[in-house]
Amino acid sequence: MDVAAVQSQLIERINSGVLVVDQNCCLLYFNRFMESHSLLQASEVIGKTLFDIFPDAPQRWLQRKIQSVFMLNTPAFSSWEQRQFVFKMRHARPVTTSSEYMAQNITFIPICSDGQSEPDKVGIIVEDMTDVFFYQQKLKDTLKELEEVSRTDGLTKVSNRRYWEERFRIEFETAQRYEHDLSLIMFDLDKFKRINDEYGHQAGDLVLVKATELVQQILRKGDLLGRYGGEEFGIILPNTAEKGAFELAERIRSQFSLLTMQHDNRSINATMSMGICQFDSRFTRFEDMVTRADLALYQSKREGRNQVTIYQA
Ligand code: GH3
Ligand code: MG
Ligand code: MG
Repeated sequence: MDVAAVQSQLIERINSGVLVVDQNCCLLYFNRFMESHSLLQASEVIGKTLFDIFPDAPQRWLQRKIQSVFMLNTPAFSSWEQRQFVFKMRHARPVTTSSEYMAQNITFIPICSDGQSEPDKVGIIVEDMTDVFFYQQKLKDTLKELEEVSRTDGLTKVSNRRYWEERFRIEFETAQRYEHDLSLIMFDLDKFKRINDEYGHQAGDLVLVKATELVQQILRKGDLLGRYGGEEFGIILPNTAEKGAFELAERIRSQFSLLTMQHDNRSINATMSMGICQFDSRFTRFEDMVTRADLALYQSKREGRNQVTIYQA
């Protein structure tokens, strides 16, 4: 068998880049894969340095890598995960990724001439990892979406109770440890059953969405609104004492009471009752704050609804 012919023809047809350079990083060989992806002909590039041909390549890093292969006479490797690409070339995948360039795994192999024990050339194999890059990216995006879905309420898109309580526990422990202020507002829509009965369940849903949108517009960045259950919500206010919480609650309550919502050509108005509890170092669990804010909320209900009450021990 003519080994040399088989090898050279295989290397020309293989679906990976193959280059060979000398000690000065001058190109001795450039296979067809490299030609078609770099849009350069072997005849144009042979004799030029890698850096003439790929001016965007990380020159110092690449030089050191190749020198080490010559010196140590052992292969070296570079993964797309560490360095997405070394040779900037477009990929030819029918996939859309965030990058139009080919993600690459690169292997550097020392080559000794016949009868020599020291390498005088380095072979470079460029593997196209764009597919793996693409699917990894997609997986990451999907996991992020899943995480988002698992912590939000489907109707209102605010935090669901599980996630909200998780965050509340952390804020509560922070307040305990560093004696930071922390307040909780619980609110519940007034006579909501009547809204459902009078305008229909979809109208009720709309009111829930509009109420949470309004609250989100008013909240600051570190505050966290969560759906506690049915038409009851909680707002965690880190670094906020009851006075600040009261002002915020009043703003939400009054703006919501003035909001007219439209459903099926009918105008709907609604109100909410609110209760506030601020952190106290005698509390041992975040649930202690929920119970007390709820007590204050029920007092708002008893005293006529559409009002804010601060819990008093
Ligand atoms: P109160 O002022 O005392 O709070 O009166 P209310 O009618 O709001 O009180 P109640 O808690 O008895 O009723 C809550 C209603 O909210 C009952 C339930 O059907 C409705 N509800 C809970 N979740 C949803 C929802 O996701 N969509 C709609 N449309 N209604 C809901
Ligand atoms: Mg209610
Ligand atoms: Mg309720």
